[in-house]
Amino acid sequence: MKLRKIILIVFALQILFTLGMKILSYTGDDSTELKSRTLKYFTTDDIEKGIEYGRRGFFARIASQVIDFLILGIFAFTSLAIRIEEYLEAKSKSRYYLMVALFFISFSIIEFIASLPLQYYFGFVLEHKFGFSKMTFVDWVIYTAKSALVGLGFGMLIALGAAFILKTFEKTWKYLIPTGSLVLGLVFSILYPIIITPIFYDYKPIEEGSLKTKIVNLCDHAKIKVENVYVINESKYSGHTNAYFTGWGDNRKIFLYDTLIKNHTEEEVISVLGHEIGHWTHNHELTFLVGNTIEMFLLCLLIGYIFQVAKANSEFTLKEIYSPSSWPLLFLIISIAGTITNPFWNTFSRYQEAQADMEALVLTNDKKSFIDTEIKMAKDNKSRLNPHPWVVFYSYSHPKTIDRIKMAEEFSGQ
Ligand SMILES: [Zn+2]
Repeated sequence: MKLRKIILIVFALQILFTLGMKILSYTGDDSTELKSRTLKYFTTDDIEKGIEYGRRGFFARIASQVIDFLILGIFAFTSLAIRIEEYLEAKSKSRYYLMVALFFISFSIIEFIASLPLQYYFGFVLEHKFGFSKMTFVDWVIYTAKSALVGLGFGMLIALGAAFILKTFEKTWKYLIPTGSLVLGLVFSILYPIIITPIFYDYKPIEEGSLKTKIVNLCDHAKIKVENVYVINESKYSGHTNAYFTGWGDNRKIFLYDTLIKNHTEEEVISVLGHEIGHWTHNHELTFLVGNTIEMFLLCLLIGYIFQVAKANSEFTLKEIYSPSSWPLLFLIISIAGTITNPFWNTFSRYQEAQADMEALVLTNDKKSFIDTEIKMAKDNKSRLNPHPWVVFYSYSHPKTIDRIKMAEEFSGQ
């Protein structure tokens, strides 16, 4: 069978599969067994709210997904990208990097405009409807503009970096791109709080007091060194809660959303931090980065091979691999590969999350606060309490709430 036909069939299967998963995530799991387990900790109203929030904008989501696939398909299977590239090549007088930059900007603008109505609907209208967003319309415009510019800036850096490697290292790009992304990931973890966080938030070191003392004690108990603990003002945007670590070694910083501190007891905050420490002591971030690098390397081999075959039998109109007009086909392959590897990554992620939960329980020996946190967070975030098992398998990065509670219930202490 011709390569073009194979890719087209796999792409069609990917679209059907993705839409099928969306339908399953709409329906959820209505088994009575799950419901009775859930009702031990939640009310019928909590379940209903989770269903309602999970189903929000269902048709808009389907439409957006179909539009994304259509754009990708049109660019990958027609000569439209070549025509745009030739136009930009003339405009930039054949200066390669300028042409790549113009190509990237044009795509980003088209993408931004196409997704703007849905961003407004999901990020502003629905978040207000469900009582999450604290933003006025002007706040939302500023936030969206900032996000778009940050995305454009970083996307441009990555696009130019990839273009440089593809153009300069014709034979070794397959090794250099995964290595480059690993280095970028490591550096980014240090730079993120210094460069990105201040664009969106104000943050300051946590005030002296009982919570700080408890955090210091927890870190001592876990035998880890933290540079400092910061509080960031998420309450300016929403009621969503979170906590995370950034950096490596002695440069490690803890970030707590002010919403987490406001809505939870100190013991519950400690339980959340215990979970984050679990990720750290088990080297989850590093494992993820290394795994990602290996996956990228395999993907580069696959892309290199498919590109070679596609170009050799001229089933696709392709220039060089470093020509931006070739990239839609490469993105299509990456997208299909992502659909296939997604359940593997998420299963691995759920395993790591359970490991971090266990670490929190062992460190704090306080399963009551752990369970109370799970209940409160699920209620506050209107989490879906009855997700379909296939959706959990395919796309959940965390075990479902009731399973996390079950694990804590079964924990017997030290
Ligand atoms: Zn986690």
